[in-house]
Amino acid sequence: MSSVAQMYPQTAMQQVMIENLIKQYGPLRALNGVSFGIHGGEWVALMGPSGSGKTTLINILGGLDTLTSGRVIVDGVDLSKLSENELVRYRAEKVGFVFQQFHLVPYLTALENVMLAQYFHSVTDEEGAEEALKRVGLGDRLTHLPAQLSGGEQQRVAIARALINQPKLILADEPTGNLDEANETIVLQIFQELHHSGHTILMVTHDPDIARQADRRIELAHGHLHFDTALHGPSQPLNCPMVNTADCCTSVSTDDEIRFDHLLEQIWVCAEEGKPAQAECLRASGASGKLSTVPEEPATRVLSRMAELHLVALQNGEALLTPMGSQRARDVVRRHRLAERLFKDTFSVDETEAHTQACKFEHIISPELDQRICTFLGHPKTCPHGNPIPPGDCCNGEPRA
Ligand code: ADP
Ligand code: MG
Repeated sequence: MSSVAQMYPQTAMQQVMIENLIKQYGPLRALNGVSFGIHGGEWVALMGPSGSGKTTLINILGGLDTLTSGRVIVDGVDLSKLSENELVRYRAEKVGFVFQQFHLVPYLTALENVMLAQYFHSVTDEEGAEEALKRVGLGDRLTHLPAQLSGGEQQRVAIARALINQPKLILADEPTGNLDEANETIVLQIFQELHHSGHTILMVTHDPDIARQADRRIELAHGHLHFDTALHGPSQPLNCPMVNTADCCTSVSTDDEIRFDHLLEQIWVCAEEGKPAQAECLRASGASGKLSTVPEEPATRVLSRMAELHLVALQNGEALLTPMGSQRARDVVRRHRLAERLFKDTFSVDETEAHTQACKFEHIISPELDQRICTFLGHPKTCPHGNPIPPGDCCNGEPRA
C-alpha cells in the first residue's frame, strides 16, 4: 500500500472511494494522486483555486470523463473498469448532476425538461416529474419555459431533473455560481433538504459560507488534496502528501501567508533593533497586535511551518531569517513603511490609523504598485516613525527624499 493510501484508510462503508487518482491531459496532470473517501449521506464541499482540478474530479466521479490511473469506486462500482455503454448506465443509475449553467432545453417546459431526463433513464412518468418539481417548490411553474423562469427557478428545474432517478450521489459544480443571493439561499435550502433525506452530496463552491453548511470541506491545490476537515479539523493546515517531492504544491492558506508576513516583519524589526527574535515574544496575529484580520495563532506553530518552507531557521528558541526569508521580510517591511508614508503624507491620516491601514495594505501592494507609490512619494528613506524604508529597484540612482 502506498504511503498516501495509508494516510487515508478506506473502509468498505464508504460510498465513494478514491485512491491515488491521476488524470493526465497530454502533458498536464489535472489530478496528481488524489485519495479520499466519502461516506453515504455526507455533504462535502469541494474547494480550491481555479484550475486545481475540481471539475475534473466531479466529471470523473460522474462518469463524464475517464481516469488515467488509480481507483475510483462509487457504490461498489469500479469506474476504471466500465465500458462506454456501462458508463452511460452508471450515470443514469447512480448520479445526479447539477451544473453552474442550467443546461435546460429552451423550447421545452419545466415539466418537459424533467421528463426529457426521464426519457434518458428509460422511464416516462409525468407524475414523478411533477413530484420532483414540487419538491423544489415549482409546483406552480410546470408549464413555464426556461425563458419565463428566473435563474434560481431554472436551477431548481435542473435540480428536479437531477433527482428523477433517485441518485444516491449528487454532484454539483458551483450550483449557485450564477445566482443572486435570494436564489442562492433557496437553492442551498434544497440541498439542505436533500442532505437530510440521505443523499450524498459533493459540491464545488468558492464560497466559504456555503462550505460551512456542508459536513466537511476538502480543498484541492494543483491537483493534490491539500486540506480535508475530516482529517485535519476545521482550521488545521495540512502538509501536502507530496511534501519533499518536486510535485509538492507547498500551498499555504492565505491566512498563513499573512501570519508569515507579520512574523517576518517582527523578526526584521528585532534585527534592526539589535535584539534576538525570541519565538515567545513574536505574535502571529499582527505586527503590533493592532490588526487581526486573521485569527490569533500560537507563533510556534506558524514558525515551524515557516521553517519547513525555509523562510526561517529556529535556533535555541530564536528565529533567524534565511536569505529567502530575509528577502521577503525586507519586501514586506518596505511595503508597510511606504504605505504608512502614503497614508500619513498624502491622505493625512493620523499615525495609528496610518499604521493600521498599512498593515492591511502591505498584503495587497504588488511589486509594480510598490514602485509607483515609492516614485510618487519621491523614494522616501524613512517611515513616519523614522524607521528606514529598504530601497527598491526604483530607487537606484534616484535621489531619495
Ligand atoms: P477547476 O474546476 O478546479 O477550476 P479543472 O478541473 O477544470 O479545474 O481543470 C484542471 C486543470 O486541467 C486545468 O489546468 C485545466 O486547464 C485542465 N483541463 C481541464 N479539462 C481539460 C481538457 N479537457 N483538456 C485539457 N486540459 C484540461
Ligand atoms: Mg471548475
